[in-house]
Amino acid sequence: MQDYDVIIVGGGPIGIACGLEAKKKGLSYLIIEKGPIVNSLFHYPINMQFFSSSEKLEIDDIPFISNESKPKRNEALEYYRRIVDSNKLNIKLFEKVQDVHKKTDLFSVTTSKSTYTSSNLILATGFYDLPNKLEVPGEDLPKVSHYYKDPHFYASQKLTVIGASNSAIDAALECYRKGAEVTLVIRGSEVGKRVKYWVRPDIINRIDEGSIKVYYNATVNEIRESEIDIKTNKGIITLENDFVLALTGYKPNFEFLKKLGVQLSDDEKLLPNYNPDSMESNIKGLYLAGVICGGMETHKWFIENSRIHAPLIFDSILENISK
Ligand SMILES: Cc1cc2nc3c(=O)[nH]c(=O)nc-3n(C[C@H](O)[C@H](O)[C@H](O)COP(=O)(O)OP(=O)(O)OC[C@H]3O[C@@H](n4cnc5c(N)ncnc54)[C@H](O)[C@@H]3O)c2cc1C
Repeated sequence: MQDYDVIIVGGGPIGIACGLEAKKKGLSYLIIEKGPIVNSLFHYPINMQFFSSSEKLEIDDIPFISNESKPKRNEALEYYRRIVDSNKLNIKLFEKVQDVHKKTDLFSVTTSKSTYTSSNLILATGFYDLPNKLEVPGEDLPKVSHYYKDPHFYASQKLTVIGASNSAIDAALECYRKGAEVTLVIRGSEVGKRVKYWVRPDIINRIDEGSIKVYYNATVNEIRESEIDIKTNKGIITLENDFVLALTGYKPNFEFLKKLGVQLSDDEKLLPNYNPDSMESNIKGLYLAGVICGGMETHKWFIENSRIHAPLIFDSILENISK
């Protein structure tokens, strides 16, 4: 006998949407989350504002009221926390899933605290845990971070921000406005094309007026205690530097997927194998939900377009049960 019909790994927005769906369908379920509720969102920058309007972040049609049309991080924390609370979702927090085995038709899930079994397993573990590393000397120095939290920390400091996407550009602008001396290092020849359309003119103007310095077609070569070496078309340039924000994206836990037997595409995208109509992977009863589905294409799925995964999965589970 299994403990649950479904175990959901990850208590992010999509894991919570799956929990709501399980409850609605009358199935026994458990959500296991290694941190607090919506752990990834909790670790987002403190002043972060979503690019989506609040109704696009709603799950199960539960209204999300925010002060402005695009909610802030703290409003999203409040929204998802209230959903977990008011629906009394069965969620275990600060419990990390360490291993999963499938024996005959049962999944055995070992966590940092216990072992549970289920007939179905949903992986909704996102991608925010594993940053894309620069792989350069000095990356492990304490002054280097792959996560940005609060601009105040960088006031009056020489800050190098690496990256050209929304996270890097938002951090560069915020820190500049709180008195940091910001240098952007961008691998390509321009600011990322997916930068929010209302932010793009702001960063371009700050660069053009010289308030934020930028090196295009440039990569980091080495980071030292008080300097950073940038590799450019004109050779290596050494800058004085106090802090580095390496905001070069994140990736799903491919090792975990592979260990479970989920097939990945053999190109650089590493797309996991799943049926888009049911979200069931090549392993029977193992479903994928949320941003984990995009492999290295982490911009492909977000809350707005992946909240639909929950009803798809539970239609499939119910269909399998009724067979
Ligand atoms: C700065 C920023 C701004 C964004 N803005 C928007 C926006 O405006 N609109 C939008 O739609 N999307 C936006 N996104 C993307 C959005 O936040 C993600 O798409 C969303 O969090 C995906 O939800 P998820 O549940 O799939 O994954 P996550 O929210 O990442 O949740 C995964 C959860 O799994 C947990 N977990 C991981 N491994 C384990 C384990 N072994 N055991 C137990 N738990 C585990 C993690 O702690 C985490 O809580 C933004 C992302 C960033 C970084």
